[in-house]
Amino acid sequence: MVTGKTFLILGGTGEARELARRAHQAFGDRARVVSSLAGRTSGPAAIAGTVRTGGFGGSEGLAAYLRDEGVACVVDATHPFAAEITAHAHAACLREEVPRLLLERPTWQLPAGGRWVEVKDMEEAAETLPQLGRRVFLTIGRRLEAFAAVPDTWFLVRLIEEPAEPLPLADHRVIVGRPPFDLAAEKAILEEHRIDCLVAKMSGGEATRAKIVAAHEAGIPTVFISRPFMPPGDAVATVDEAIRWLEPRL
Ligand code: NAP
Repeated sequence: MVTGKTFLILGGTGEARELARRAHQAFGDRARVVSSLAGRTSGPAAIAGTVRTGGFGGSEGLAAYLRDEGVACVVDATHPFAAEITAHAHAACLREEVPRLLLERPTWQLPAGGRWVEVKDMEEAAETLPQLGRRVFLTIGRRLEAFAAVPDTWFLVRLIEEPAEPLPLADHRVIVGRPPFDLAAEKAILEEHRIDCLVAKMSGGEATRAKIVAAHEAGIPTVFISRPFMPPGDAVATVDEAIRWLEPRL
C-alpha cells in the first residue's frame, strides 16, 4: 500500500492522461496519483492511478479537498478553454499553500498566407460568419447559443457524444467523434458536407490539428476563438517538463 504523498492532476485531456501514466510509473511507489475528471463524458479512456469524478464545489470545495486529502502538489492539465476550474485551482492552491503547475499545451503555429480569423469569443465568431461562409463546421463543443441567430447558415456540429438536449441551432447536423482525428478523415468531412468555413478553439495540440490543415489545404477560412486568460504561476508546455517539476516535490 502507498502511504506517501498525494498528487492531484486536474484532467480531462490526453496530456493529463499521459501525465498520470508517467507519474504513476515514476512516483507510484511513494505517492498516490489522483486524476480528477469533471464527468462530462460517459466512458472516458482508462487512466493510471486513482480517478475521482465530478466538481469540487468551487474554489472553496477544491481548497477543502486539498486539505482533507493532504494533497502535496497539483498539476492543472485541463483543456486551455476550461477556464473556470483553472481559476479555482489557482485560488485554492494559493489559499492552501499547495504548489501548482499549469501544463499548458502550445498554441498552433499557423502557416503564413492562410485564411485565418482570430476572434475573442463565440459571439464575435457568430458575428463574423455571414461574411465567410454558409456551410459552417463547428468544432467548439456544445455551448452554441451564440450561433442561434446566425442567418441563412447550415451548421455541421462535431461533439464527443450525442447531445442530451437539442442544440440551439435551426439548421444543423450533429456528428460524433473523439480525438485524435486524422487528416484524410478531416478532408473527407469537409468535402462530403461541402463545408465553406471552419470554427475552432485555439486549443493547440496534435490530436485536433488535422482539421486546421485540412481547411487550409482546401482554401477554407478558419475562425479561431482565442484562448481565455490564464492565471499567473509555474507553467510548462510538455509532460516531460511536468515530470521534472514533480521530482523534487514527491
Ligand atoms: P470549466 O468550465 O473550467 O469548469 C466548470 C466546472 O466544472 C468547474 O468549476 C468544476 O466544478 C468542474 N470541473 C471542470 N474540470 C474539472 C476537473 N478536471 N475535475 C473536477 N471538476 C472539474 O470546465 P469545462 O470547460 O466545462 O471542461 C470540463 C472538463 O472537460 C475539463 O476537465 C477539461 O479538461 C475537459 N475538456 C474541456 C474542453 C473545453 O473545450 N472546454 C475540451 C476538452 C476537454 P466545481 O466548481 O464544482 O469544482
